[in-house]
Amino acid sequence: MSEDWEGGTLEESGKLENPNYYCSHGTFVGDPYGPDLMCFWCEMGVSDEDYNAHLRWEKLRADAKWGLREELDRAEAALDRGDWMKAKRYIDSASLLHKRIY
Ligand SMILES: [Zn+2]
Repeated sequence: MSEDWEGGTLEESGKLENPNYYCSHGTFVGDPYGPDLMCFWCEMGVSDEDYNAHLRWEKLRADAKWGLREELDRAEAALDRGDWMKAKRYIDSASLLHKRIY
C-alpha cells in the first residue's frame, strides 16, 4: 500500500479523474507505486495497432449485428402484412449481414 491510498477512498483521492493513471486502453491502472492494477491488453502485450484493429472489428461487428436485427424486424413486419416478397428481401439482406459477422 502506498501512502496515496491511505486516509481516503480511491474516489476521494481524485486519481480517477487524472488521465495519467490510465493506460492507452482507457483502463485505470493507478500509479507505478500503488497497487498492481492490471489491464488485460497491456498484460497480453498487444500493440496499439492490433488493439485498434480489434476495436474496428468490434465496431464493425456491433454495427452489423444492429443491422441484422433491423432487417429481421422489417422482415417480421412485412410477414405480418402478408408481404412475402419484401420479407424475403429483408431475410436475404439479413443473411448477407450474418455471413459478414460470422
Ligand atoms: Zn492497457
